[in-house]
Amino acid sequence: MEILITGGGGFIGSHLTEELLRNHEVTVVDNFCSSSRKNIREFKEHENFNLIETDILEDFEIHIDPDYIIHMASRASPVDYREHPVHTIRTNTEGTLKMLEIAYRYDAKFMFTSTSEVYGDPEIHPQPEDYWGNVNPNGPRACYDEGKRCGEAAIASYVKKNPVDYRIVRIFNTYGPRLRTGDGRVISNFVTQALNGDPITVYGDGKQTRSFCYVDDLVSGLLRAMDSKTEEIFNLGNPDEKSIIELAEIIKDIIQPESDIVYRDLPEDDPEQRKPDISKARKKLGWEPETELEEGLRKTIDYFREIV
Ligand code: UDP
Repeated sequence: MEILITGGGGFIGSHLTEELLRNHEVTVVDNFCSSSRKNIREFKEHENFNLIETDILEDFEIHIDPDYIIHMASRASPVDYREHPVHTIRTNTEGTLKMLEIAYRYDAKFMFTSTSEVYGDPEIHPQPEDYWGNVNPNGPRACYDEGKRCGEAAIASYVKKNPVDYRIVRIFNTYGPRLRTGDGRVISNFVTQALNGDPITVYGDGKQTRSFCYVDDLVSGLLRAMDSKTEEIFNLGNPDEKSIIELAEIIKDIIQPESDIVYRDLPEDDPEQRKPDISKARKKLGWEPETELEEGLRKTIDYFREIV
């Protein structure tokens, strides 16, 4: 297939691109506003790889006849999207409509990477796909969580008049090599801090939970979801739930057991708990994550050791 992937130079996108390049022609559209060009350095030699370096909101020519469009482009770190809220919401709303138009024009299949943030601060635990969420439309995360929700709504609306074969995946917290140092997300922060001998900054009391999925597992879920039926929505994540303080202790034990833990204010609207219900992905995609947190963290830490 000829595959067009927006955000294909990002943390998750570059891992997906790497896998797709084994069997397909891949054109990445990325402006590297929140990722490093190093992520795709090795692909540039690959004969099946093309790069269009642009913001998807700008006009650009694609020069291919795509069979599949994967729309992943978006800032995804809370620190990053709070700095650039308008760009974030535009990428997920206008950007999604624009990519849908291209999919319609070329009769390409379409996959949108949404997020667990569509569930907001969830009142149902774990979160199944049919939960509508608990989101603050005016809060500091709104550009991202409401942006992704509106991206989903944009798809549902667009296909009413212009049919596109689409599916949506909601990605939960993911980690692994190519996470950006200093991107503000918890694993990136904790690992960088421990490696530098700095105190580990736990926000709030650290009792809030997240469920962390190793990037290779996530990519295998994305590949399976690409082949799913149209209009399906899947949670992709690892249901192994951990409190943030537990995560800090695990990382500390691997890198530097003497590291200090310091407590900082909890950011506004920080969800208290998050854990995917992946029964649907298990059943319909035959997918589930395999990598234990400690094993995945060790691989991630090896990567960070080289760059920190
Ligand atoms: N967090 C933390 N210390 C940090 C960075 C994040 O305690 O240095 C917490 C944050 O408040 C949240 C959790 O870790 O409760 C996950 O944060 P992240 O930004 O990675 O992703 P989120 O799931 O909130 O989008």
